[in-house]
Amino acid sequence: MRRPDVPDLVERARRGEQLAVARLISLVEDGGPALREVARALARHAGRAHVIGVTGPPGVGKSTTTSALVTALRAADRRVGVLAVDPSSSFSGGALLGDRVRMAEHTTDEGVFIRSMASRGHLGGLAWSTPHALRVLDAAGCDVVLIETVGVGQSEIEIVALADTTLVLLAPGAGDGVQAAKAGVLEVADVFVVNKADRDGADETVRDLRRMLSLGERGGLDATIGRSGGWRIPVLRTVAARGEGMTELVAALDAHRRWLDSSGERERRRLARAAAEIQAIALERVRARIEEARGAGGLPGLAKRVLAGEMDPYQAADELDRGNEPDTADPASR
Ligand code: GDP
Repeated sequence: MRRPDVPDLVERARRGEQLAVARLISLVEDGGPALREVARALARHAGRAHVIGVTGPPGVGKSTTTSALVTALRAADRRVGVLAVDPSSSFSGGALLGDRVRMAEHTTDEGVFIRSMASRGHLGGLAWSTPHALRVLDAAGCDVVLIETVGVGQSEIEIVALADTTLVLLAPGAGDGVQAAKAGVLEVADVFVVNKADRDGADETVRDLRRMLSLGERGGLDATIGRSGGWRIPVLRTVAARGEGMTELVAALDAHRRWLDSSGERERRRLARAAAEIQAIALERVRARIEEARGAGGLPGLAKRVLAGEMDPYQAADELDRGNEPDTADPASR
């Protein structure tokens, strides 16, 4: 394949060219030699977009809400990116996933960038390519990037690691609040939405959630629940299928962004995210280096020697370290 002209692609992406954006995301997703170059070229251009994670149980209305949010954000003339991440799939289309029909109305809008990404097959969960894809959308001038998890997966916590603001959706129904508590989403939510508010039991679910949040605060959990205080987690209700409640939802998300900025929490979250990303890359290098070690000093050979009582596992690990040249296992230089 022809070597991509990364600086040109980045320039065009920054002007909002859809094709260049798509191509750059493909390059980072492939994890090929261009990844490093793309990462370097984007480093200076990211950090502006408000990254919002949309999560909640399957069927609760995540993709309907994402689409309705896009409509509301576009009405306010904001540029929007959507990353639909499927943690249960290693298939990556680049195009829309089959069930993304709800997004169809936005695909011809030049101010909307939609991308599906598969994430299995890398370090597990949301791939290391996802933060790069976010940077591409950020550099392309997106004011808001929505990350939505598609399919079933334990992705709530991972999405939090990538988002500035985490939006947790629940639907009316017995035990939903309890489910939320079990799934650990109480701790990660910045904004709660009870969607399908056209259904019976919405008021109850809202009440349950509010009670749980205030119990959490009284129980001394406000450091986690209120996230260093000052932010009271709102519980909103929406009927995403009819676009109802979206103005209020956008207002709540904007308010959270303002709080993040004024409290310094955004900076803290971004620092934690950068640290986690560096760590993931470094760990991946170590893992690959161990796997690549061959010969008597390689893992299978050392395992045999440990089994034969010739050395203990610590000595074997020392051997493995010695037998490896550093910097041979960069996933981007494969
Ligand atoms: P996801 O799996 O969380 O992404 O959920 P979807 O967005 O695919 O929605 C699941 C189903 O719920 C679809 O049939 C939607 O049309 C429906 N749905 C979404 N929002 C609402 C709502 O506000 N009210 C009702 N009654 N149905 C909704």
